Amino acid sequence: MNVIDLINSRESSAFSFEVLPPLKGTGIEKLFCTIEQLKEFSPAYINITTHRSEYIYREVGDGMMQRMRIRRRPGTVAVAAAIQNKYGIHVVPHVLCSGFTREDIEYMLLDLQFLGISDLLVLRGDKARDASSFQPTGDGYSYATELMEQINRFNAGFFVDDTQIKVPGEPFSYGVACYPEKHEESANLESDLQILKRKADGGAAYAVTQLFYDNEKYFSFVRRAREMGITIPIIPGIKPLSKLSQLTMVPKTFHCDLPQPLAEAVRACRTDEEVKHVGIEWAVEQCRELMNHKVPSIHFYTVSAVESIREIAKRIY
Ligand code: FAD
Repeated sequence: MNVIDLINSRESSAFSFEVLPPLKGTGIEKLFCTIEQLKEFSPAYINITTHRSEYIYREVGDGMMQRMRIRRRPGTVAVAAAIQNKYGIHVVPHVLCSGFTREDIEYMLLDLQFLGISDLLVLRGDKARDASSFQPTGDGYSYATELMEQINRFNAGFFVDDTQIKVPGEPFSYGVACYPEKHEESANLESDLQILKRKADGGAAYAVTQLFYDNEKYFSFVRRAREMGITIPIIPGIKPLSKLSQLTMVPKTFHCDLPQPLAEAVRACRTDEEVKHVGIEWAVEQCRELMNHKVPSIHFYTVSAVESIREIAKRIY
């Protein structure tokens, strides 16, 4: 069974969430703790993000700085396998263009196949922090659609150098990202939807949205997608607000609007605890409406929000 089978076989909206691999050197216990808090709501699957390496400057003595490449959150494949083995929950590791060559990607696919993991979320990934625009790594890719082609070729039994795979494994099924309020680099929503159409026509089984707080934007996006002939499930992504600082940080980072009543309610809060309460109430209402519209699944972003998601899940599932 793949994610698409799991969601298609359900009558009601599934529960799923995304976790980040731990920061290098911090162990996996905290991540397991997140899953312990949410597993009673029977997640249909858990996504594991992937993070590119970054350049940092480290002092090496005599006032000299050295530019070094580090990966703060390595371990996506291993974390996916650890979750699958420990909890028996379906896992969806993210595969990126950003920071990876074609060969890196191929080795990741091989590792996943050996581990019996056949679901992926295929993404471009963000630009490097110190770059002004997205640049592929070595012979890597500029867009998620190009990475999809490599995976499709792999599924068809070919390595990236066109040699044949002697013993092809189970083919990968994958989802992609989409943006109800458009991707930050897109000229307009129309051209972003054209890209989603290319992804769907190219083999994506479903799409997961960027987080949003205004259901109308999601409903309108799905309507426009359907009018363009995009038929794949479009899974809404939800992240409850939990901190005062998110009032400005969330729109800036995720390029989504906060509806005025939500923004006003957060502005009236004096503590993060109060924001957490507002965030939970808003997300519960959002999820109830989405479920009434029979969305295939609700996908939760867990960063800084695990306790809130637990409270929301208790009330809606
Ligand atoms: P693409 O689909 O490649 O689109 C990028 C931009 O290029 C868009 O503006 C698009 O309209 C345009 N475009 C696409 N294809 C073409 C083309 N052929 N020609 C011209 N223009 C084109 N980031 C991480 O680093 N790690 C993660 O684990 C991660 N997980 C995510 C999960 C979800 C559900 C979402 C929504 C986002 C996630 N991101 C993650 C962030 C994501 O990588 C960024 O939003 C990134 O900037 C775009 O990724 P994409 O796959 O949508 O890119």
